[in-house]
Amino acid sequence: MDTLKALSSQMVFEADGEPRVTASAPDCFSPKEKDQAFVHPAQLPNGQKIMLLKTLLSSACERDCFYCPFRAGRDFRRATFKPDEFAGLFNKLNQSGAAEGVFLSSGIAGGGIRTMDKLLDTADILRKKYKYRGYLHLKVMPGSEKEQVFRAMQLADRVSVNLEAPNTERLAKLAPHKIFFEELLRPLKWIEEIRQTVPAYKFWNNRWPSTATQFVAGGSDESDLELLTVTSWLNKNVRLKRAYFSAFHPIRDTPLENKPAVDPMREHRLYQASFLLRDYGFDLEDLPFTNFNNLPLNADPKQAWAQMYLANTPLEINKAGRHELIRIPGIGLKGADAILNARKSNKLRDLSALKKLGIIAERAAPYVLLDGRKAALQLALF
Ligand code: SF4
Repeated sequence: MDTLKALSSQMVFEADGEPRVTASAPDCFSPKEKDQAFVHPAQLPNGQKIMLLKTLLSSACERDCFYCPFRAGRDFRRATFKPDEFAGLFNKLNQSGAAEGVFLSSGIAGGGIRTMDKLLDTADILRKKYKYRGYLHLKVMPGSEKEQVFRAMQLADRVSVNLEAPNTERLAKLAPHKIFFEELLRPLKWIEEIRQTVPAYKFWNNRWPSTATQFVAGGSDESDLELLTVTSWLNKNVRLKRAYFSAFHPIRDTPLENKPAVDPMREHRLYQASFLLRDYGFDLEDLPFTNFNNLPLNADPKQAWAQMYLANTPLEINKAGRHELIRIPGIGLKGADAILNARKSNKLRDLSALKKLGIIAERAAPYVLLDGRKAALQLALF
């Protein structure tokens, strides 16, 4: 369990913004072990909330990515699991109820192919020997082969390849020994190619796994436009489910240790913009980039768009199509559907009617008409 603590405690580096917490004490561990088991609250793609163990199979790595605490040559105690060892430990955690899902990555030792084989062996033992049916997210190692990607897709609910940077030139500033196209982008393309040629029932749980990637935001002096251009491309071409943005934070004893940390608000704005691109019909041209091709930190990108395009020409809530409703601040995907449903029987005439549908009415008010009347004026009545 010491090994698990050593590995999972540093995985906060890869976390998706959720705070790390100690697991509730599972009975199958000794008091010392209970103190050392780490899991994270996480939300699955279907919205379900679970306690997720995020860890590495090994923190030994032969690569030397400039931002990474596990890079080769950095002086700290490395730890490694064998596949059956990790699978047995996770099974204990899962059986005790302390961890309901697992996100498994690894440092690279002996090449990407060999390391990927170990991750696949671990997943295989979990699924077959321990009959584990819960959430499994597998990281695809740089340099993996297509057959390995296929095997990962047959075992996991989600597979991911971290691009880290938006293109070859930027990646060279962060990870000079990773090859952007061959090692990182090509496996993402393979995942989509496999989805298009192999029916869903041949995969785990009879469905294709979702795909994710992660960028180190601000690590290579790239702009938000560069990050969101590649995100938009991935959304359209490889059906990316989620782009994660991790604001660069300097790690002691790495080549970038003196580079200033990136404002976490930048990470937040990138997430907001990526959701607009993925779910709300926004194009890159709709986003309010500054002269330096970054998003303003002090403005919600949806609000900034509405201020430019809707403030003087508000939309009539009782007539607007779904694609228009979801562009209004305060109205999400579910809210737009609720409006469409509600107005089949009644006209929506005031902000309280919107509030009842779960809309953040105050935010929507400046940009809508309710039965011909400017909603912003109604606000004063409340
Ligand atoms: S390959 Fe992964 S673990 Fe190794 S140094 Fe690069 S980012 Fe870190």
